Amino acid sequence: MNRSHLVVPPGAKVRLKDYDPAATGEFRGKDDAQQKLQRDIERLARYQDVLYAQGTHALLIILQAMDAAGKDGAIKHVMSGVNPQGCEVVAFKVPSAEELRHTYLWRYQKAVPERGRIGIFNRSYYEEVLVVRVHPELLARQALPNGEPGKKFWERRFQEINDFERHLVRNGVVVLKFFLNVSKDEQRRRLLERIDAPEKNWKLTPGDVSERSRWDDYMGAYEEVFRHTSTGWAPWHIIPADHKLFTRTAVAGLIVETLKTLELRYPSLSRDQKRELAKARRLLEREVSDG
Ligand code: ATP
Ligand code: MG
Repeated sequence: MNRSHLVVPPGAKVRLKDYDPAATGEFRGKDDAQQKLQRDIERLARYQDVLYAQGTHALLIILQAMDAAGKDGAIKHVMSGVNPQGCEVVAFKVPSAEELRHTYLWRYQKAVPERGRIGIFNRSYYEEVLVVRVHPELLARQALPNGEPGKKFWERRFQEINDFERHLVRNGVVVLKFFLNVSKDEQRRRLLERIDAPEKNWKLTPGDVSERSRWDDYMGAYEEVFRHTSTGWAPWHIIPADHKLFTRTAVAGLIVETLKTLELRYPSLSRDQKRELAKARRLLEREVSDG
């Protein structure tokens, strides 16, 4: 399975039933995948250093998934080699009263990484066309001006999201979107594990099981999202998520490939700056000779 199998072509009508959550690509076993992951973690660390030094681009990674699909684990492993100073993770939960008084993109816009940095959205503005679409009562809390939302309302949100992402991309923020595609069976197994293992109890929120009962509605909402918001400038990737190692390897691989296309370079110095460096060297060397 290569990059082109994971990316959703713009405008494609996705049926999630056609995507196998248990796929593991071309790896010849766990060791093979683990080695690739390790190599990509190291490459990512090197790219991040240049991204930070150059300060021209930012990378925004968006992770969306059903509960227990492995977003947290993917972040922990894939980012394990990067310098914390150049990276920030923001987890978006149910919006606060203040956030609800603003337009729906406000809190996300504020969290977009600055140039030179990698930002990870653990959930994102896509919740505004996923959980909010599955639970329209959440919209009432947003006190919107125009009555009941119909199909047009969601299409307008898709359009606004596409416009927002185009604005980001045109201004140097690369947007990479991942849907971690876990199966309903595997989710059940992982939720049970959260109940059975005391050190995992804290991870289970009461909503997890009730949201699961709306599984098909969520899949329908995701399919709509992919169809309308996988664009040339900010494509969606559907990542098989029943095998955690494969998920992490695929995500790391796609991040590295994306950074590679940016042709990042350490900044080159002007003649004046080089002269300044030479001067600094002379001063430092004199300290030794002066004793
Ligand atoms: P895990 O996969 O480990 O369960 P999580 O991302 O689900 O992690 P939680 O604290 O369990 O983290 O849940 C966050 C909740 O916040 C989710 O149920 C999500 O749907 C909800 N949420 C996020 N953004 C919004 C939003 N804009 N409007 C309403 N609910 C939101
Ligand atoms: Mg949850």
